[in-house]
Amino acid sequence: MSRKSITILGATGSIGASTLAVLEASRDFDIYALTAHQSAEELLELCLRYKPRFAVLGAEAAGQQIATSLRAQGSRTEVLVGAEALKRVASAPEVTHVMAAIVGGVGLPPTFAAVQAGKTVLLANKEALVMAGSIFMTAVERSNAKLLPVDSEHNAIFQCLGQSTTVGPSVNRILLTGSGGPFLRTPIDSLADVTPEDACRHPNWDMGRKISVDSATMMNKGLELIEAAWLFGVPADKIEFLIHPQSIVHSMVEFIDGSVVAQMGQPDMRTPIAHVLAYPDRQVSGVSGLDFAALADLSFETPDYQRFPLLGLARRVASEPLCQAVALNAANEMAVAAFLDAGLPYREIATTIEQVVSLIPRKELLCIDDVLDYDHEARSLTTELLSTDD
Ligand code: NAD
Ligand code: MG
Repeated sequence: MSRKSITILGATGSIGASTLAVLEASRDFDIYALTAHQSAEELLELCLRYKPRFAVLGAEAAGQQIATSLRAQGSRTEVLVGAEALKRVASAPEVTHVMAAIVGGVGLPPTFAAVQAGKTVLLANKEALVMAGSIFMTAVERSNAKLLPVDSEHNAIFQCLGQSTTVGPSVNRILLTGSGGPFLRTPIDSLADVTPEDACRHPNWDMGRKISVDSATMMNKGLELIEAAWLFGVPADKIEFLIHPQSIVHSMVEFIDGSVVAQMGQPDMRTPIAHVLAYPDRQVSGVSGLDFAALADLSFETPDYQRFPLLGLARRVASEPLCQAVALNAANEMAVAAFLDAGLPYREIATTIEQVVSLIPRKELLCIDDVLDYDHEARSLTTELLSTDD
């Protein structure tokens, strides 16, 4: 078998770091390209260590800075810049696998390019699938790409279905678990005053800032519902939310005979990442097994939709035309960024998204360019609403 070769989109992020850690232990991949947005210093270090053929950065100045340093140190890594370069390294003929780990909708074009080129796509970037839905899944089918879920819940469901994305008539329901985030027990009245630091302090997982806020609002679980509906080809009402504060059970599938199959493990993304890298085999990930006797408690509860209004909104949007999911995602990205960097009060994340989803005119989206145009429209509307709030 020819050697596997991987591009890591978003190599400097949390998923990127875990992916490189797993790859380092197994060494059965060549690293074709590593990409980052602005963190030139970090990408430079990764290039010196992993010697990819290409490094891609978002901006010209950062690109030149790292190219000069790489040359000075005798590195042969070639530096490219910009969105077209991301698509190029995601679809190059030499590449067999693409880890899609850019955060947000900006990850859609290169992830989609990887799909169209028929790669094995390891999908962490859930926003890409939420936005492109049926268009994405049709492209997977047409190009014969292999789509493997990295998101821990979806990876768990995939494993519970016997390493498959097919949900047959023997499946009763899918139980999508979530920890409930840092505000599961915070008195609802005091949510008005929580800070970005409070929101990013996740009890179990160590993640990038955007997904940490999504976990606090539980929009992450809402996006995951839409992601799961597309990945497994099921209506959203076959998928139930279940709060599980310990994050040990990563999701479950219930069959018609009453059997419930769960996938469990430490809350550490190296496990699902190792699983998709080695698929259909298994490899070590560096994560230890569970000490069941030491686990104090495994508890489950239904979510409180008043505390987490975005869960209800995402569920409604999941059965609406695709444009609504694009609007939901775009408004969420903008509102979360405004909360993190511009003082938007925490509770206005949800109200802003609700407004955008209800105000934006609906449109039929037939191709990726339609999706990207509509995403742009939804972002403009969100910016407008955020600025009139001041
Ligand atoms: P992160 O913020 O730690 O890293 C994001 C990466 O994307 C970085 O390498 C950054 O340079 C790159 N990036 C950001 N903006 C970009 C832009 N405009 N253009 C090009 N590259 C850009 O995020 P993360 O936590 O690693 O999450 C990555 C994705 O994986 C997200 O979609 C998230 O929902 C998903 N995910 C993450 C986890 C986790 O545990 N961190 C779990 C499941 C799914
Ligand atoms: Mg997840």
